[in-house]
Amino acid sequence: MTDTTQPTTPTDGFVYAPAPQATDVVDIRSSYGLFIDGEFVAPEGDGFRKTVNPATEEVLAEVADASPADVQRAVAAARRAQTEVWGPMPGSERAKYLYRIARLIAERSRELAVLETIDNGKPIRESRDSDLPLVSAHFFYYAGWADKLGYAGYGPDPQPLGVAGQIIPWNFPLLMAAWKLAPALATGNTVVLKPAETTPLTALHLAEIIQQADLPPGVVNIITGAGETGQALVDADVDKVAFTGSTAVGKAIQRSVAGTAKSLTLELGGKAANIVFDDAPLDQAIEGIVNGIFFNQGHVCCAGSRLLVQESIAEPLMERLRTRLSTLRLGDPMDKNTDIGAINSAEQLERITALASAGEEEGATRWSPACDLPDRGYWFPPTIFSGASQSMRIAREEIFGPVLTTMTFRTPDEAVAKANNTPYGLSAGVWTDKGSRILWMAQQLKAGVVWSNTFNRFDPTSPFGGYKESGFGREGGRQGLAPYLEVTI
Ligand code: NDP
Repeated sequence: MTDTTQPTTPTDGFVYAPAPQATDVVDIRSSYGLFIDGEFVAPEGDGFRKTVNPATEEVLAEVADASPADVQRAVAAARRAQTEVWGPMPGSERAKYLYRIARLIAERSRELAVLETIDNGKPIRESRDSDLPLVSAHFFYYAGWADKLGYAGYGPDPQPLGVAGQIIPWNFPLLMAAWKLAPALATGNTVVLKPAETTPLTALHLAEIIQQADLPPGVVNIITGAGETGQALVDADVDKVAFTGSTAVGKAIQRSVAGTAKSLTLELGGKAANIVFDDAPLDQAIEGIVNGIFFNQGHVCCAGSRLLVQESIAEPLMERLRTRLSTLRLGDPMDKNTDIGAINSAEQLERITALASAGEEEGATRWSPACDLPDRGYWFPPTIFSGASQSMRIAREEIFGPVLTTMTFRTPDEAVAKANNTPYGLSAGVWTDKGSRILWMAQQLKAGVVWSNTFNRFDPTSPFGGYKESGFGREGGRQGLAPYLEVTI
């Protein structure tokens, strides 16, 4: 069922003049090779694929497809660099390179933010104010650990694993690259990184920064391509596989490495509960709900995609939420006033559309604010489902789009039971005035991160990772060093 009512309270009537970010700060090449052993090289085969701007469908560049032979080449370069240069290098020297990379990213942050928005579709406000500051902060943070590994709690002289094969998704392309590279390099490992096929460009510009920082050749190799390239990397002679992406691919990778000596960490999907009690500060909670699910078009593994509201405040809260959603601006991601940008690809749009249709078919009530979608590109309006039940697909499956499923509860026990009724366990949010309830809920919720009276807060010092089908291993913080060290904890 579709609810076509619009909020009764007046919505934001301001007319905003366009405020476009200049795009000439970035120089996009027409063709990119593979970054192997410190240089951009041609792939062995003649495979190239195009990457497009999802807001306009304009082709941005062609990017090489790495064959299994290219993957072997990259792994061999990483192996040589690890045993001859990077592994034996004192941590204090490795730290200097990481600080240099962090500084260069900060210096080139405007260029990288613009490129991220062009290739991914996310609003420039988010890539500029959220992604890029976190990317350089991550390198700064792990640079600080490089010469202090003996004091990290993993023994007096913890050793690197060797060569890490790292596979990342398209939702936070450069940030995920930073989450993977910084701890691996700080601990003395070398890396072969595969970005997602729809968002390879910022990783390739990071390769330029790596050259600029004079990182020894082979320490970081960046190979582009599709799922087959990722699979070839998993099967190659690496000591560690680190993967962020869908649960289905994560399980396939786990099967591939079973029975080998390879170490594995998986950061997979989520279906987080954002739980609002009747004593919560409602205005803040509304902002937290909006940030929880509409940030980055909902392409966030820890998105607060299930809203659990205490029954006594459900109606006023939903009314306020509709009013707030009516003020969100969807459109040109390069406009500094834009809140909701483009969906990353036609395939992802198809997935979101299909799951939202399933929600209606199963009997939930669908609502979106009045909202004009641009004629070209991939777009989906912010959408709320109410009257959902726990068995519906929209309450169980990761939609990975700007779609919120709302349900109600009466008691804290019921909130916990409903929140934990999911195969995932990546994050959760709790909104209440009572400190004791926050602590009790945090103990009960089976989620790697529990935010209280906030949502989607990140800091390099804080570990992040999942329970159950959301994966295992932690990224960030002191704990983020362990997956790259030979330690038993
Ligand atoms: P995938 O898991 O397919 O992709 C993640 C990365 O793995 C990409 O680099 C991908 O390459 C690569 N890959 C794909 N197949 C294999 C394989 N067999 N072996 C090794 N690597 C592989 O995610 P999708 O992009 O297809 O997104 C699908 C769904 O996954 C989304 O709707 C969302 O629910 C979830 N997702 C979760 C994320 C998270 O952060 N937890 C992030 C992204 C997606 P390529 O891009 O070329 O396919």
